Order: sequence, then structure tokens, then C-alpha cells
Amino acid sequence: MKNWSGYLEWTPTRISYPTTEAAIQALVQTARREGRKIRLIGSGHSFTPLSVTTDNLISLDHYQGLVHVDAARQQATVRAGTKLHALGDILHGHGLALANMGDINAQSIAGAVSTGTHGTGTGFGNMSTQVVAIRLVNGHGEVVTCSATEQPELFRAAQVSIGALGIITELTLQCVPAYRLELVIDKASLAEVLATLAERNANHRNFEFYWFPNTPHVMTKTVNTTAAPPDPHSWRDYLQDIVLENYGFHLACEIAHRFPALTHAVARFAASTTSHHRKVNHSHRVFTTPRLVKFNEMEYNVPLAAYPEVQKEVVSWVNKNNTTVMFPLENRFVQGDDIFLSPAYQRDSAYVAAHVYHKADFKAYFGALEAIFLAHGGRPHWGKIHTLTQPQLRDCYPEFGTFTRLRAEQDPDGVFLSGYLQTLFGE
Ligand SMILES: Cc1cc2nc3c(=O)[nH]c(=O)nc-3n(C[C@H](O)[C@H](O)[C@H](O)COP(=O)(O)OP(=O)(O)OC[C@H]3O[C@@H](n4cnc5c(N)ncnc54)[C@H](O)[C@@H]3O)c2cc1C
Repeated sequence: MKNWSGYLEWTPTRISYPTTEAAIQALVQTARREGRKIRLIGSGHSFTPLSVTTDNLISLDHYQGLVHVDAARQQATVRAGTKLHALGDILHGHGLALANMGDINAQSIAGAVSTGTHGTGTGFGNMSTQVVAIRLVNGHGEVVTCSATEQPELFRAAQVSIGALGIITELTLQCVPAYRLELVIDKASLAEVLATLAERNANHRNFEFYWFPNTPHVMTKTVNTTAAPPDPHSWRDYLQDIVLENYGFHLACEIAHRFPALTHAVARFAASTTSHHRKVNHSHRVFTTPRLVKFNEMEYNVPLAAYPEVQKEVVSWVNKNNTTVMFPLENRFVQGDDIFLSPAYQRDSAYVAAHVYHKADFKAYFGALEAIFLAHGGRPHWGKIHTLTQPQLRDCYPEFGTFTRLRAEQDPDGVFLSGYLQTLFGE
């Protein structure tokens, strides 16, 4: 068994695909009785060993789909294993959509929510903020429900819980009426984007940019709602999304990997291929694009106020020390929330993500960037590579103790505490 990037490899004793909530309960009760461990896997798109176990692994791939829609409240309850690509179409069929999404749609909804997966846009929180009720099977094998009004403390813990409280079986999502988006991709200079960042964030629904290492160039992605019909020229989208961003980029990665001396030249060339591109479609078809080039990733959340300094230090370190990485660094902006383990807990935030081709070593690069992020109050994305364990995480999260208390109540026997989760939450 491997994660998406192939960096993690493990062999569970057993993989179960339950099809009912009663079957999920039975799996937990049996594991508890026999003193065994359980980990959950969604689509295996995390880079940290959250799903690694030599014991039982449970997948909800056979527990997907819509449970019901509350049209008046614009809320949809879905089974936790539902993949985001299916969810987009299901919601669209009911005239609904998610207010925001990340870059891809391969994840399960429970997996995405459990790690605080996010997109960009200073008017939007991460995907966990779109959840209004959660149903889970805890470590006692009991079904527990929570929301802002029912067990609100447990709800705020469960919204980002990395599979440590139990197996989420259903999520109720606050949706919005279906809408269309216009995406505009452009090339710009880093200096100009940084000088106009506040306006760009204020004037556009969703703004992000990618900086090409060791160059002055960035690719900007600006997204706004539109009444225009979906663009029929889908070959242009294919050229941008598949040919340029995937096949062409894959070739560039291979060249830089085989001939490291060419890395800076290849990064400059990749930056030069960025050109104006416009796409209009239903929201769930605009937010996400396929990612066919495999990489490993580190992503940290930093307070928005600290972002200019973090950005400056990252650029300075990369320009001085980087000889092998040509993947652009992704910069996104997210609204703060009140979820105990959300990296955006109680602060408007920026996220900076660094990627390394899957065949290359990332340790020195990620180590240097992590030191910069941590010096500015950084909190790691739970699903992306970082080196933090419980003592540092306690310092990062003011309500870390509340989370570990609730974890111990929901799973006193540590059914869900794998070796890796022990390093995060173990007593
Ligand atoms: C190509 C790529 C692009 C990405 N883009 C983004 C992005 O734009 N924004 C972003 O924030 N992140 C992004 N990520 C990270 C990704 O969204 C997260 O790692 C997410 O958790 C993966 O979802 P998954 O379904 O694969 O979950 P997995 O990685 O399989 O699991 C994640 C966690 O959820 C737990 N879990 C799964 N199902 C359940 C359940 N039913 N109950 C309780 N716990 C459960 C698992 O045990 C684990 O702890 C990206 C990752 C990749 C590989």
C-alpha cells in the first residue's frame, strides 16, 4: 500500500471496506475487544503517515453518496467516503455547491475535512468550516453526533481531527446555491504581486500565486463569480490544465532531475510558458485541476500579518541556496476560524507550500523552509510533510489540551492511536 506520492509504503494486516454504519461499529468493537488498532484511509493523498498501520486499515470507498438534502437550509448530508469529484456533481444536481475548494478533487470528503484541507480566498475558511454537523463512531464503538448546538466542544474538535476521535460516517455540509466562476491565469512579477497583494485579495473572490524559484516571475490565479455560460472551448483548458501544467511540467521536472545544473534554466523556461488563460465553468470544475506529476509537499500556515516577512525570507533562502528545486511555491490566503486543530485557528492566514519532484530528496529544502515558518508562528498542514511532535504542537495550538482530553474520552483504549498518532497526541 502506498500514498499518492509513493513516499510512504506500508502493509496493513487487514483492509476492510464496510458498507454500513453497523459494520463500521462492529469493526471498532472487535478491534477494541481484541486490543487491536485501526487507522482510516480516504484517498491516500496525505504525505504524513496518518494512515500508516501494520494492523487494521478501514476505507470508506464503499460507503459513499448522498444521505439527504435540506433544500431550505442549503445543507447536504453525505457519507464520509464520498469523493470530492462525485460530491461536486451530486451537489450540482441539487442546485448547490461548496463555497470553496482546494486544488484537486480526488480526496474523500472525510479525509479532506480531517486534515483541514483548504483553498484560497480571504473571505473563506478551510473546508472544515463548511461542515455543520458530524456523525462518527468513536473508540467505544458508539455512534456520536455533534454540531454547533449539539456537543459543540466535541464538534470543534471533530472538524479537524485526523481520524483521532473515531471514524466519521456522515458529514453535513453548508452549501451555497450553484454558481459559475471565471478563472484568469496570468504571468506577473513577484515584486508587483507583493506590492498589490492586499488589493488583489480584497478585489477578487479567490486569489493565489505561484512563484518560480530563482526567477522574478510568478503565475497568478484569479477567480471571480460570473454570469457567463460555461466556456465551450475546452481544448484550451486541456492545453493549460493537462499539456502545460502536467505533461510539459513533467518533462521539465525530469530534465532538471537528470541534469541538476539546468534547474535554474528549466525554472526560467517553465515561467516563460505561463501566459494569459481564461476559463469559465461551474464552480467545482474551476477550483480543481488534475495533478499528474508526482511530488512531495510541505505546507505551512503563517499568520497573515507575518506573511510579508516569511515570503521575503523564503525567497532569499531559495535564491541563495536552491540548486535542485524548480517546482513553484504556492501562496494562498485563508480566513481564520475557531476549530481547535485548524492551522487557521483564530487568525487570518497565509499558506506557503513547497513541492519537490517525487524522485528527489526534499529533506534539506523542507528543513530550511520549516525553520523559517516556525520562527514566525507557523502551523503545519496536517496532511503535508513536517517534523513536529506533541511538545511543539502544544505550543502551536492554544486548545491542544482540550483536543487531547476529548480524544481520551472518545477513545480511551487508543484504538485509533497508531505509532505516528502517538507522537502527535499520546500521553
Ligand atoms: C496532488 C495533491 C493536491 C493537494 N491539494 C491540496 C489543496 O489544494 N489544499 C489542501 O489543503 N490540501 C491539499 N492536499 C492535501 C490533501 O487534501 C489532504 O492530505 C487530504 O487529507 C487528503 O484526503 P484523502 O481523502 O486522501 O485522505 P487521507 O490522506 O487518506 O487521510 C487523511 C486523514 O483523514 C483520516 N480519515 C480519512 N477518512 C476518515 C473517516 N471516515 N473518519 C475519520 N478520519 C478519516 C485519515 O485517517 C487521515 O488521518 C493535496 C494533496 C495532493 C496529493
